[in-house]
Amino acid sequence: MEVDHFGYDIESVEGIDGLRERMSNAESVRDWSFILGDYISAGNNKISKTTCIFNMNSAHDCPNYATRENGESETGYCQVPAESCYAAKAENIYNAALPYRRRQEYLWDCMPPELWAKAFMSLNDRKRNSFDSIRFSEAGDFRHNGDIVRVNKIAKIVDIPVYTYSASHKLNWDLATEFTINASNGRADYGDRRFMAIPESEEKPDSAVWCPNNLQQNDGVPAEDRIKCGDCKLCINEEGPDVAIHLH
Ligand code: SF4
Repeated sequence: MEVDHFGYDIESVEGIDGLRERMSNAESVRDWSFILGDYISAGNNKISKTTCIFNMNSAHDCPNYATRENGESETGYCQVPAESCYAAKAENIYNAALPYRRRQEYLWDCMPPELWAKAFMSLNDRKRNSFDSIRFSEAGDFRHNGDIVRVNKIAKIVDIPVYTYSASHKLNWDLATEFTINASNGRADYGDRRFMAIPESEEKPDSAVWCPNNLQQNDGVPAEDRIKCGDCKLCINEEGPDVAIHLH
């Protein structure tokens, strides 16, 4: 198997030829907006449908995957054990998830951020219920400073809030001036707030508030009835307290 800069054989990713053909035929921002539209999702069972979700890579290819077990990577350290990573679980359960996210990574690396932002705005103009925020990295994480620069350029162009969570504490987060970063490890002072996963045996620090969705989950409220990210803006706003969830 030939492995390229992605860390896996891109040629063996299901659907990559079809994506390449669409990309090579795209002539306008509108054309690109239809391609991008097939590689974003509108919320999930925790995030409101008016939040656009895009991944720069999969959980399996995340630069910080399984660092809790193996020690820090070149980019950072994940506070969640690999076995508790929801994004990796989804990729193990649903066959289509990993190739889809690998195609997202390919698209991400091929689209200049200005084009990504314009294509996004074009697709958002067509939507009846427009997106009101963009969440990067439901799966995966920032791989290098170039990813920060690209998201920052996008956030400067689109007229809605952009936010993310990252455990890549070794990157240069001073480059992120236009979007909100929830720092998911405490090994460096970076981002706009800490987003901490706390073992059930430990106390929450006074500086943090419990995530309301997580509180409802712990109280047995069904997923469809819980407060969703987007309706709750604790992690989207730059200002505000640290946020805590229970680690199960
Ligand atoms: S605190 Fe609010 S925005 Fe953050 S994860 Fe919980 S529900 Fe979502």
